[in-house]
Amino acid sequence: TYIIAEPCVDVMDRACIEECPVDCIYEGGRMLYIHPDECVDCGACEPVCPVEAIFYEDDTPDEWCDYIGANADFFDKL
Ligand code: SF4
Repeated sequence: TYIIAEPCVDVMDRACIEECPVDCIYEGGRMLYIHPDECVDCGACEPVCPVEAIFYEDDTPDEWCDYIGANADFFDKL
């Protein structure tokens, strides 16, 4: 799955939402989140993010690895 990390916080550009073919990017309070079970790993969202907040989970920079869990947790709480 792809995930959204810290650069999205308080930015929420939403360009990724337009690109996602399966509509699996959702709005939270301060950032957007990708549903890990719905994402089909197409990669379409990653290049359109103006702040480079989107990563394939295994390529997430170490300092933002907490966001992998944060994306999943967001949906557990719904
Ligand atoms: Fe949607 Fe594709 Fe991005 Fe997954 S990788 S969130 S399916 S646009």
